[in-house]
Amino acid sequence: MAVSGPQYQRFGGNTTCYHAEVEPGHHLLVDAGTGLRGLQHAIAGRSEPQRFTIFLSHYHWDHIQGLPLFSPLYDAASRIDIWAPALEGRDPERALWDVICRPWWPVALAEAPAQVRIRPVQDHVEVGPILVRSAELHHPGGVIGYRLEGDHTVVVATDQETGVERFDERLVKLAHGADVLVHDSQYTPGEHHGPRLGWGHSDWEGASRIAHEAGVARLVLTSHDPDRTDDEVEAIRTAARALFPLTDAAHEGMRLPL
Ligand SMILES: [Zn+2]
Repeated sequence: MAVSGPQYQRFGGNTTCYHAEVEPGHHLLVDAGTGLRGLQHAIAGRSEPQRFTIFLSHYHWDHIQGLPLFSPLYDAASRIDIWAPALEGRDPERALWDVICRPWWPVALAEAPAQVRIRPVQDHVEVGPILVRSAELHHPGGVIGYRLEGDHTVVVATDQETGVERFDERLVKLAHGADVLVHDSQYTPGEHHGPRLGWGHSDWEGASRIAHEAGVARLVLTSHDPDRTDDEVEAIRTAARALFPLTDAAHEGMRLPL
């Protein structure tokens, strides 16, 4: 969930959203959490119509709540392509239409002025010069991890729990040789292997193990627990560096090579 307060200033309080402008005016995004709103400020004042290609990992609130608050949704010149998983047999269009509508929000996504197209995600999707590959990972209700291949390769595996062999193997394959692996590390090992086992998130030990096995260059820990203060996130980063030295903790505005 989005958080606010002086104890969250260094890593930020928005929920998850990754952005790359892959061609002039064409924006690739992974997830549409509250961080998505930062993009509308970054592109404010542009006269050309903007295009957005959004890949959703899954539909939990923290990954979609930026969408109804995203001003290009209310501009008829905007084109918004959403690729999203068909989880638990639910059509992606219905999964979003059914929650972004009255009485939860005044403007239904199905009636939004922008040109919106919502489709089930494919194994490979080309977005300008970027190839996006996907694989289902381990999270209650399902989740998709994305591999973005450009000049560099970035893999986003958030809301993913390590420890189930077939999913671990799938992620190691998806992340093989990547320049950056962004991996869930919401819990401490004690939390994860105690009451929160099976809740769909990982700890830094699991994240660094995947990073080693996949042979990635750099690990970025993400999906910080909303109750974790900046100091506690820094302690997690320090602990993780003992296992995988080139580890960072994701923070708002962080830039990665693609
Ligand atoms: Zn989730």
